[in-house]
Amino acid sequence: MSFSTVNSYSVSGITATHVTVETHLSPGLPKFTLVGLPEAVVKESKERVRSALITNQLPFPKQRITINLAPADLPKQGGCFDLPIALGILAAQGVLKQSDLHPFVFCGELSLSGQLRPITGVLAMLLVSQKTLILPASQPECQALPHAKSCLIASQLLEVIAHLKQQKCLPKTQAHTCEQPLPDPDFKSVIGQSLGKYALMLSAVGGHALRFIGPPGCGKSLLAHLLVDCLPTLNETDTFTCATLRAAAQLPVNFSNRPPFRAPHHSISQAGLIGGGTPVRPGEISLAHKGVLFLDEVAEIPRKQLDSLREPIEQSYIHIARAGHHIQFPTEFQLICAMNPCPCGYSTHPHISCQCTPHAIQMYQTRISGPLLDRIGLHVHLNAPAHNTPPSTDEILLSIKHIQTLRAVQQQRQGCLNHQLNTAHPILKQNTSSKAHTMLSNIYQKQHLSMRALGHLHTTAFTIADISDSPHISVQHIEQALMFQKNITHKHATPHTI
Ligand SMILES: [Zn+2]
Repeated sequence: MSFSTVNSYSVSGITATHVTVETHLSPGLPKFTLVGLPEAVVKESKERVRSALITNQLPFPKQRITINLAPADLPKQGGCFDLPIALGILAAQGVLKQSDLHPFVFCGELSLSGQLRPITGVLAMLLVSQKTLILPASQPECQALPHAKSCLIASQLLEVIAHLKQQKCLPKTQAHTCEQPLPDPDFKSVIGQSLGKYALMLSAVGGHALRFIGPPGCGKSLLAHLLVDCLPTLNETDTFTCATLRAAAQLPVNFSNRPPFRAPHHSISQAGLIGGGTPVRPGEISLAHKGVLFLDEVAEIPRKQLDSLREPIEQSYIHIARAGHHIQFPTEFQLICAMNPCPCGYSTHPHISCQCTPHAIQMYQTRISGPLLDRIGLHVHLNAPAHNTPPSTDEILLSIKHIQTLRAVQQQRQGCLNHQLNTAHPILKQNTSSKAHTMLSNIYQKQHLSMRALGHLHTTAFTIADISDSPHISVQHIEQALMFQKNITHKHATPHTI
């Protein structure tokens, strides 16, 4: 037989696409041709494969060899095709049976002596693979794979051949468990700020984006860090997707089921925030997938960067265009921002006087564009806690277990969290009392709200109703939700008002 096919993968971003490595041997002067849009590293695999076969005393054909990497229009990068090309050449010569190759997918770089070297994008391959993957044993990701994603590992080309000839089986990766119980959030670490804590609860339960505005040192960052502790643990698929994103960003990979928390500095570049570069890597918004993206000092982040968040927030993914192809990364994160009320930070402080002019304050507050603010459901003005505020003793709030139950109820009821509901969704209409409906339309007309702001008000009231264990949204729930609208300040808000 002078023709063979071998399964492999090409990875772009975190998307692995199946590639068929076709090998054809034909009579003629010895020549090795590689087609199918290979990049420089892939083209060089001809030399590695030739040396690996010859040094291991395996036959290398003295004929015309044509290798096609299909589909032909997909750009191929990396050294992961060395192993499938070597096996394809052996199968085309009849050294290996074609039927023995079919149940497997092969990826790995070969050294000149036939050792298998690690490659990039392994987790993306494991995410989609329906067949058994054979990978390099030295692959760092293979040291701690979760239970459901095992694969076979080999350190030498000859070991793979021995496995295919059923002479000696390859070992499987050791399965690890990634489930760790999370402790309840420690709300006592933040003094006072009951309104802020309540907003965190709403955000954790209903998935609403949140903005804290307050003077320096009032506890904005501490509160923001607590949000991730309020979120339920990730399931196995989400854990694996988050690990794949970290691997694509070339960060250390772990399979923790704790939701990610990303807090980039306000000087971050556009590519760092939304993704990009060469090769394309996921940005902070994708590294925060299924977790929390905390933007501290949000007014200091350049407006261009902030505005690029609008679409990923809405669509839960980002498309990055590159010559000839697109790369997509998931971006289902919960946004939490913190900012000072003015450049000096003290315009709302009860004792420290503000040094800013009214114009400077106005300019500072308009640094975040209206459309981005419109996508944030909860806006909370925090005041500096008094010097002698005692640590609260009634930090009831909700346990992780309760939050998890309330999120599961929403998923069961409407297939998504409350913040994703459209104002016209029948579930919202059915669960709103007629008085609350009238109140909402009055607010819409009098306050000239945008439809999105009205939606935030309605869905926040729904989350408040869920927390109160009430089947219907009442006037009281709408009144409470009004406290978190963007134009409301809570100079005198106390825990008793909720
Ligand atoms: Zn000021």
